Amino acid sequence: MDNKTKDPVCGMEIKTEEAEAKLDYNGKIYYFCEMGCKAKFEKDPEKYTKTSEKDRNQSKKGSCCSKKTCC
Ligand SMILES: [Zn+2]
Repeated sequence: MDNKTKDPVCGMEIKTEEAEAKLDYNGKIYYFCEMGCKAKFEKDPEKYTKTSEKDRNQSKKGSCCSKKTCC
């Protein structure tokens, strides 16, 4: 079993045991491939933690139900 995770800053897949840095944010542990990525995350954590939420909203917007003509 390998514990793979994604560096939220650069998007690189890393193994948790090989992460250069990690950070506990909002009860979740984030792993980073290098200290520089951790520093960026600490500077603007919302930017990186909100990404997936933004993606979800965008796909919702693209559905036919956003147009009144369809549903
Ligand atoms: Zn990184």
